[in-house]
Amino acid sequence: TYTLGPKLSKWDEERKVWLSQNPEFPNYVNGKPRILLLTGSPPNPCDNPIGDHYLLKAIKNKIDYCRIHGIEIVYNMAHLDKELAGYWAKLPMIRRLMLSHPEVEWIWWMDSDAMFTDMVFEIPLSKYNNHNLVIHGYPDLLFEQKSWIALNTGSFLFRNCKWSLDLLDAWAPMGPKGPIREEAGKILTANLKGRPAFEADDQSALIYLLLAQKDQWMDKVYIENQYYLHGYWAGLVDRYEEMIEKYHPGLGDERWPFVTHFVGCKPCGSYGDYPVEQCLRSMERAFNFADNQVLKLYGFGHRGLLSPKIKRIRNETVTPLEYVDQFDIRHSVHGNS
Ligand code: UDP
Ligand code: MN
Repeated sequence: TYTLGPKLSKWDEERKVWLSQNPEFPNYVNGKPRILLLTGSPPNPCDNPIGDHYLLKAIKNKIDYCRIHGIEIVYNMAHLDKELAGYWAKLPMIRRLMLSHPEVEWIWWMDSDAMFTDMVFEIPLSKYNNHNLVIHGYPDLLFEQKSWIALNTGSFLFRNCKWSLDLLDAWAPMGPKGPIREEAGKILTANLKGRPAFEADDQSALIYLLLAQKDQWMDKVYIENQYYLHGYWAGLVDRYEEMIEKYHPGLGDERWPFVTHFVGCKPCGSYGDYPVEQCLRSMERAFNFADNQVLKLYGFGHRGLLSPKIKRIRNETVTPLEYVDQFDIRHSVHGNS
């Protein structure tokens, strides 16, 4: 069967030696694990040109979040393995980054169509000291319903370790384009509740694997739903005004969602589950909702959640450092260590 590369059975030992020989590249900095956020989009322009504009907004949003929180970022547009084109492209890239960046402790995959909507919230990584995969989902939907939306592969974290490489190897075989992916899609549709008939996708394949080999993997998988590591846009984008009125960034849950993910929208491609106009409008709102949190430091804000135009929200001052203390998000974040 298909493999991502040679088996690396000694990765943990080898990485440990490398870390001890390269103290200038520590996997923990000031007590915090080093995180690399990985995202990407197809190598070619979108079918719908406005899609490229929203890809740009989505990467700006991620750059802002990562800058504020000291997270490194990689944007991939290459298909490292042409067999794993499309949504499967994340697998070989995650593996490649683990092996090429032994100093990185966690690789965080985030879809291009997901945006940070809480610029203050930080992932409580110390909670996952005994886990290697952190993914948003619901255990009952997974184990009782066997639902194809029990987990969401739009935003998840893998620890850089042999266990993760092994899971990627076990996950990949349904991915190769063509008859393999087509046939695997039939197995997934037959076994997962609610799944429409289409070729194998990475999310269904992961759910199927974790159901089939529960004992082998689940003790290291953390199914997170205390905050929106992934948040389904449809229930969130119309509530932003209410959130602004009642709550504040930093909560990360339904009161102020950490991530808003545009599942079912395909403004870049041709076909989606929702009208493109509704998707674009909702993306614009999510972007501006997040961007207001960034612009606040500089004394500006959007005229409305649908407006790319901005307005001043404070007057110029002769004591600008007061505003730094008050509005720089980095000052309000208290680490997990
Ligand atoms: N992706 C990629 N290269 C591709 C196609 C997709 O990096 O050639 C990434 C992109 O970030 C996208 C994610 O894979 O958001 C999931 O792909 P999918 O086609 O499912 O898009 P979505 O459902 O997120 O619109
Ligand atoms: Mn997506």
